[in-house]
Amino acid sequence: EKMESLDASVSRILVFVRLRPMGKKERENGARCCVKILNKRDVYLTEFTNENDYLRLKRLRVRHFTFDSSFPETTTQQEVYSTTTGDLVEAVLEGRNGSVFCYGATGAGKTYTMLGTMENPGVMVLAIKDLFAKVRQRSLDGNHVVHLSYLEVYNETVRDLLSPGRPLILREDKQGIVAADEVMALLQRGNQNRTTEPTRCNETSSRSHAILQVIVEYKTRDTSMNIISRVGKLSLIDLAGSERALATDQRTLRSLEGANINRSLLALSSCINALVEGKKHIPYRNSKLTQLLKDSLGGSCNTVMIANISPSSQSFGETQNTLHWADRAK
Ligand code: ADP
Ligand code: MG
Repeated sequence: EKMESLDASVSRILVFVRLRPMGKKERENGARCCVKILNKRDVYLTEFTNENDYLRLKRLRVRHFTFDSSFPETTTQQEVYSTTTGDLVEAVLEGRNGSVFCYGATGAGKTYTMLGTMENPGVMVLAIKDLFAKVRQRSLDGNHVVHLSYLEVYNETVRDLLSPGRPLILREDKQGIVAADEVMALLQRGNQNRTTEPTRCNETSSRSHAILQVIVEYKTRDTSMNIISRVGKLSLIDLAGSERALATDQRTLRSLEGANINRSLLALSSCINALVEGKKHIPYRNSKLTQLLKDSLGGSCNTVMIANISPSSQSFGETQNTLHWADRAK
């Protein structure tokens, strides 16, 4: 039996899995469903499932995983937000840093989860909306300033997606209401600035990472009129597609560098492995993404991973890789 580690130097990362619904095209192409989520926790992956045959799952050759929570295809954006990110928004107001990542193959639902659509806004939009509602509730006893930046890491270069050259500062005035659809429009505009592949100019490159960072500064005076201030930072990250980044250790990272494998994604995996294993040295400096996140990952920071997967039998291999990766991050 393995004892639960109580060592404070071992960072606990909350790991969630989100299964997206089967797409119409996939069905038309004869895809079958190869993933089933039960009890909001158990994920079953099988190569040859008859969709109505889950009762027999345990007798079939099936891989079974469990996570902090697993979201079936019917899960709403609001449910995903409140289960994975709601507490982190609360913590940021208390001056603690946190980060939420969406990891998975291209097409698995990362951008849908993070950004969402006008009708179904995702984690980034719901987090900002929630943050402003909470700031408004608290602004009687002090002063909050919220800084927002939306960055892209592509090919180890960092770009500003919102207002090239300078971070955007949103100041809340007394009546100010930040509508969710305004935030949505802002982030969608930012998303349109993400790098596209020359051959498919409407599609965001699968090698592009998008990072929304929200910094909340709070200032007030104590009874002796001394200024008290605290700062919290929340990072919400729509990662590059994981399909070409199966290797996770440093040795493999170096040998793959020439092959145009995503350095930031591999470096993130290395950092997460080091954190989970309780290593002293976390290799933050190995990539632009991990440099940007070094104060938001591990230590006393809240770290959340959402692994996005497709139900389609055509994506079986990628789904299996994503689930194994997520399983190691626990
Ligand atoms: P990724 O960013 O991982 O490449 P997307 O978020 O673009 O993948 O999702 C691929 C497609 O699936 C998109 O058309 C998206 O709208 C759809 N999709 C993803 N997740 C969901 C979901 N939970 N519910 C409905 N549609 C989804
Ligand atoms: Mg995407």
